Amino acid sequence: MATINDIVALCKRLVFIFPGFEIYGGMAGAYDYGPYGVELMKNIRESWWRAMVYQRDDVEGLDAALISNRLLWKYSGHESSFSDPLVECKKCGARMRQDKMKNVKKCDACGSADLTPPRPYQMMMGLSVGATADFEINAYLRPETATTTFTNFKNVLDSVPHKLPFGIVQIGKAFRNEISPRGFVFRMREFEQAELQYFVKPGEDEKQFAEWKKARMSWWISEMGIPAEKLRFTPHEKLAHYAKAAEDIEYEFPDGFDEVEGIHNRADFDLGSHTKSQKEFDIKSTVPENNESTTKLSYSDPQTGESFIPYVVETAMGINRAMLAVMHNAYIEEDLGDGKSRTVLKLPGRLAPVKAAVIPLARNVPELLERANGIVADLRKLGLGRIELENSGNIGKNYRRHDEIGTPVCITIDHQSLEDGMVTLRHRDDMSQERVAIKDVPKKLQSIIK
Ligand code: ATP
Repeated sequence: MATINDIVALCKRLVFIFPGFEIYGGMAGAYDYGPYGVELMKNIRESWWRAMVYQRDDVEGLDAALISNRLLWKYSGHESSFSDPLVECKKCGARMRQDKMKNVKKCDACGSADLTPPRPYQMMMGLSVGATADFEINAYLRPETATTTFTNFKNVLDSVPHKLPFGIVQIGKAFRNEISPRGFVFRMREFEQAELQYFVKPGEDEKQFAEWKKARMSWWISEMGIPAEKLRFTPHEKLAHYAKAAEDIEYEFPDGFDEVEGIHNRADFDLGSHTKSQKEFDIKSTVPENNESTTKLSYSDPQTGESFIPYVVETAMGINRAMLAVMHNAYIEEDLGDGKSRTVLKLPGRLAPVKAAVIPLARNVPELLERANGIVADLRKLGLGRIELENSGNIGKNYRRHDEIGTPVCITIDHQSLEDGMVTLRHRDDMSQERVAIKDVPKKLQSIIK
């Protein structure tokens, strides 16, 4: 099994992900995505959006502001309780999140047992927005997309009418002042989430929770190409203040199974917390009294005329963690015999950062280059994604590089191609080669990428 260090090394060498601000010594929990990293991220986002929005009739998209009004986080409960238990080592000064320590009695860094008792550590990043006299927190960078979806419930419902159940999704950045960022892009201070809030009639929440669990697990298997045995559900031992039920989808990372997505039954906590006129509704969750909201976040049943606060089933995935799991699952060191080996990323075609590489066999031979450019132009018209022209003349090196990037096929043009109009397609996974007529290459690539 590949280690996280294998993935880190490949990411850096092949411009997927770099440590952030490296020229000034870096910064914990900050990473930058390079040319192939952004392609893979984009492909994961698109796969998620396709499944959650385009293949359904009942889900709408949203993109809300990241810098958010403080009141949101007051009524969501984040200001008072979005915290992790911080423990400090009195000997070496290390600061740790107690629930993630290897042994709660000993410092992770130096092994000392001289630790402070845990204290709640606020994880939201406060901001001072506008021309304030002093640096005074009057806004927050959002720590999740969910709450900015709840406060847009009425806007979406009024503009695109839906009957319950219906959902709203967002993909976007979230910020958390994590005590100890770790595991490469597994735990960062700035990351990206893809979240669905699915609004349902009270009483239908448990059935919907079970259905979304099924739907999300099958997405991981069919779209991310991860075998079922490397994924599992784990129910939360301790429920968050808003949750009626919560389970994580976990992937088997090198150090064991860990969370990549959460599925939560949030009952009527969220719309109930942010709605105006709370007393008009039979809100079941314990919500803070809200006299500052200007909008009723209720739903009127068109048949009975009854107004009520919908329940919410949430699916919350991290795009960066998804990318890490997908890369880890796809990473293979293959023994080719005779002391030779290759590294290959066996990514599903749709996720591959580069869809095909077109390689003239000899460097700077005008006829070969012209043919190659013609194929590149035809393939780009398909709109499948990035198509690369490789004009280095070193075919072995090109194959190795594209195996590592995960490019599903390389297309080689040789002198014979100029005579018979055929090229060689070399397949990433089994390294098999076939001759294909140039005019058939686009169709062939389409069938490989699907
Ligand atoms: P954890 O227990 O690991 O801190 P969480 O349960 O707080 O995560 P959620 O609030 O449910 O996470 O967020 C949904 C998803 O967002 C997670 O499943 C994960 O994929 C991603 N995520 C959460 N925190 C981070 C982070 N600090 N860095 C990268 N991804 C994250």
